[in-house]
Amino acid sequence: MSRTILVLPNDDLENINGLFEIIENIGGAFDLILIGDSGYLQESNFKVPDKIQSIHHFHDLSMSQPLGFGRYSKSLAEFIKQQSYSLVISSANEDSNVLLPSVSTVLDGSCMTDITSLNEKADRFYVTRFVYNMNIIAEFELCRRPVIVSTSHRSSTSKWVPIKFLKKTNHFFPATDENWFSGLESETITEVDGLRNAKKVLVAGRGVSGKKGYDKVAEISKLLNAKTGTTRPLVQEGIAANHEMVGSSGVIVSPEKCLIFGSSGAAPFAFGIDKSQIIFGVNNDPESQLFRFCDYGIIDDCSLIISELLKLLQPFNG
Ligand SMILES: Cc1cc2nc3c(=O)[nH]c(=O)nc-3n(C[C@H](O)[C@H](O)[C@H](O)COP(=O)(O)OP(=O)(O)OC[C@H]3O[C@@H](n4cnc5c(N)ncnc54)[C@H](O)[C@@H]3O)c2cc1C
Repeated sequence: MSRTILVLPNDDLENINGLFEIIENIGGAFDLILIGDSGYLQESNFKVPDKIQSIHHFHDLSMSQPLGFGRYSKSLAEFIKQQSYSLVISSANEDSNVLLPSVSTVLDGSCMTDITSLNEKADRFYVTRFVYNMNIIAEFELCRRPVIVSTSHRSSTSKWVPIKFLKKTNHFFPATDENWFSGLESETITEVDGLRNAKKVLVAGRGVSGKKGYDKVAEISKLLNAKTGTTRPLVQEGIAANHEMVGSSGVIVSPEKCLIFGSSGAAPFAFGIDKSQIIFGVNNDPESQLFRFCDYGIIDDCSLIISELLKLLQPFNG
């Protein structure tokens, strides 16, 4: 199957290198299509990876006008069809995010804009993309050929994992919220274990340092007969579940006692704990916003406090 990278007229070297990075996971050889005037690339230190087997130029008269739709997308679609490309990758920007869906409509392919990763397994293409105001990253399978994607490689997502396989999709359409939400019925935040009405809530923020820290907080919660909540980064990293996220886009809690470990106390999170009667906070940064709304605060490494608490509570276990 032939595949190609499109370099748009307004792409800079950072964009292009990002495109090269994304094809590292993808087998096969690629063509590189330089669209419009890309003479500047020849003058720069433009390193073409081995996977690129040939470089073509695609000129079109309408390039003198703003990148647009209609005629331009039709002629680009025609070109992609002639070359039998089954996979087309470009950088994501205001132009490409309208151009590519438009090209895909002409070709009746699959298209997704602003993807953060692309993988191929057994001749199927899987992409990830932020959804829900960038609160989670979701994985999609793009089913029709050609698969046309724009990549949002500037957002560093290397440590992110897809939270959930959401949807097989034949097409996209770009990014009005209504369209996304109609496809994401399974992601409605559900109240699973009574966090919303819990009398005691422990929150693990990013400062608990990964899954081990989160697990310890969950263990303390169990020993205290409390519920565990979390902040957005732990959900994004796949450590905690989406329904555990406390905040304006998660669960609003109203416990008698709320214990927060290693959160900066950012406003969207603070909104979710505002109704707590007493708030305890642990943060190693004395300037942290968290201390602005805590009734009691400890300035220290929260992993020490968490370990001490566990030691204190273990004897009461069982
Ligand atoms: C539209 C929108 C909606 C959002 N909705 C939510 C939401 O509902 N819920 C939510 O949580 N976020 C939400 N966010 C994200 C929010 O803005 C913050 O980015 C997020 O809450 C930060 O989480 P955090 O405090 O755990 O991480 P960070 O902001 O990274 O803070 C970590 C803190 O831990 C401290 N720390 C680090 N190491 C240690 C240690 N060893 N011991 C003690 N302290 C330590 C650091 O000093 C720092 O203050 C939303 C953002 C947007 C834009």
